[in-house]
Amino acid sequence: KFYNSKFLRRLCDMWDHRGSGICNFHGSTGDVIFIGTTTDQLEPTFFDLSHQFDMDLGGSGSNLRTPACCMGKARCEWSCLDTQAICYDLTMTYQDELHRPAFPYKFKFKISGCPNNCVAAIARSCTSIIGTWRDQIRIDQKAVQAYIGGEIAPNAGAFSDRDWGPFDIQKEVIDLCPSGCMWMDGNELKIDDRECTRCMHCINVMPSALRPGVDCGATILNGAKAPILEG
Ligand code: SF4
Ligand code: SF4
Repeated sequence: KFYNSKFLRRLCDMWDHRGSGICNFHGSTGDVIFIGTTTDQLEPTFFDLSHQFDMDLGGSGSNLRTPACCMGKARCEWSCLDTQAICYDLTMTYQDELHRPAFPYKFKFKISGCPNNCVAAIARSCTSIIGTWRDQIRIDQKAVQAYIGGEIAPNAGAFSDRDWGPFDIQKEVIDLCPSGCMWMDGNELKIDDRECTRCMHCINVMPSALRPGVDCGATILNGAKAPILEG
């Protein structure tokens, strides 16, 4: 289901042979975009990709764009949805629209398994499907103490190339909660889940201590896109 470096090398060799050798990976338009060739190489490229590489060829014109999703439950423990099943279902259901302009211009579906929204669905699609939960964030209080005591590296060890000093749960987690719904009660971390906006910040910083809830579903957003940084 997931490609490996050997497969990518074969793809690059094919494109060196048939086109410019320049590719764009995981851009807005598709998963792998081959840029620049001569007209007589277009059909052979399609033939190679569909017959020798067994690849799914999407659409990139004024039609429904190939639906895209994060890897979801296949590899990510935070996924609240089976993103790939949804993506596959949408692709099969609207197969004809991938090639004919029945949808509005460049219509896009994108699916993320949790509010980390790794496919940037809100910024990049017309219908975003984003996994969420409606019960409580699961807290492992022992692991919270292990973070506080420095036994577990915050952010799963990211940013460890610099010495940021000892982990400060107040400064790095509680004070950065956008809805201010976290606090320490003695040695226990508390969350008022009714106020939690599912921003994922605390979970991202302390992934061994906090996990999304178990009563999962999706937030579906239809309509205008929102920029990633501002607006
Ligand atoms: S969006 Fe969430 S579930 Fe999907 S890969 Fe990113 S962190 Fe994992
Ligand atoms: S997910 Fe975000 S809003 Fe919810 S408790 Fe954690 S930091 Fe606060």
